[in-house]
Amino acid sequence: MNMAGRKSKLLKWGKRILLPIVAFHALTQINNWSVNSYYSHFPFRQQFKEIAGFPIRGGVMEIEGLTSANVNELAEIIFKERSERDFSLGDLTIESDNYQDRSFIEQMVGIFGSHYTGWCWGDNIGLKKGNIHGLTHEIKHKKSYEIMNDDPEFLERWMDLSRDEDGDSMYIHHDYFSWASTRSRCIESLVCEDEDSDDLRDGFISGYAKTIIYEDIAELCANVEENPALFNSLLFGEKRNSR
Ligand SMILES: [Zn+2]
Repeated sequence: MNMAGRKSKLLKWGKRILLPIVAFHALTQINNWSVNSYYSHFPFRQQFKEIAGFPIRGGVMEIEGLTSANVNELAEIIFKERSERDFSLGDLTIESDNYQDRSFIEQMVGIFGSHYTGWCWGDNIGLKKGNIHGLTHEIKHKKSYEIMNDDPEFLERWMDLSRDEDGDSMYIHHDYFSWASTRSRCIESLVCEDEDSDDLRDGFISGYAKTIIYEDIAELCANVEENPALFNSLLFGEKRNSR
């Protein structure tokens, strides 16, 4: 078989494999759009949009199945974050466990990450159903992206705080491509468990914060928000005790 024949055969096989995948994903997106359009008129979703300023998306199990404790937690986080510094958001998605029920962004996040509990991508935030409290971390991402847009020097100044004695960056990755290519997962460890770890000595709130500057910012800011007492003791504890 000549080169042109091989190429044509490969293309045919490529189409046979790709077409069903594309067709399947197109159907999932039609399904996702239909579900969210239909249920957007349900009372809770309408009230949420009025109060939060952005819609909440997801299947009936994910949204109408939220407990009142979940709803209170979401409302409290959004109110607190808005009162400290406002932010804009396209929507908040509570992610389904079923791949076929997810939006395209959720499907992509699912492919490139496995143990993630939340994500912030562009103007969208997604949360696993059991990780409502992770909204704080994701909003910190969103806010920090907005600050970076307004003030390009912000990232440089933060980076200057994260260099070793030789002036080299202490982060494991320097861009999201490198971070994703090693399949680092978005495990949002919001509490620092080991105060004597190298991470703390190096100036990072957790090992996860050390992976990339963007996670450091979100991780640290969420930690300050959620555990101000712990952060205070980390920052001032030793000095106060040594008095
Ligand atoms: Zn994160």
